[in-house]
Amino acid sequence: MTQSRCDRCSTTGPAHDFVSAGSDGTWRVLCIRCFNTEMAQFADLHGFEHPSFTPLRLRDVDDNHHEFHFCGLLLGDQLSLEAFELAGDDEAAGYRFQILGEADAEPSALLGQLIQKMKRALALKHLQADAGRLQIANTTVRGRVEWNGDENARQPCTIIDGQRIKWNDLGAMLLAFEGWQFRLEMLDPSDEA
Ligand SMILES: [Zn+2]
Repeated sequence: MTQSRCDRCSTTGPAHDFVSAGSDGTWRVLCIRCFNTEMAQFADLHGFEHPSFTPLRLRDVDDNHHEFHFCGLLLGDQLSLEAFELAGDDEAAGYRFQILGEADAEPSALLGQLIQKMKRALALKHLQADAGRLQIANTTVRGRVEWNGDENARQPCTIIDGQRIKWNDLGAMLLAFEGWQFRLEMLDPSDEA
């Protein structure tokens, strides 16, 4: 797993526990604790306590386990709480959830809301295997757009049911709906899809 080092306190750890923060044209890598400390000073939030949560395992509708890690980032007057899976080295794969609350919200209350959101998502499957090939199970697909890992490719990939689905493979699934209409709506990561 890629390691990072904090430019402020020199702590090292897995890259997902660090953020790149830019100010005055320079970029620094900060651990989340240092990022939140600086943000709290910047936003004049006194007594802000950096939230930390232990990883949590949840089961999806097919009884598969998913291990989620949490990250609480102070974004000015808002606290963003994110849950993500570590699918090997690929930090962009797997389920990912976000919820936003007031900066002075009780982190455990926000965590409770986030877990409810995660459970609602894990109770749904949008793809099903049909003769060894994935197909769209019903008529709605929810997922996330991600970079496909290729600098030169002008197409994204998608994450559906927590798994990476190539753009072409999603296109192949849509062939089953030839002649149908569709509605494509983009939603902020903190909204409920
Ligand atoms: Zn640090």
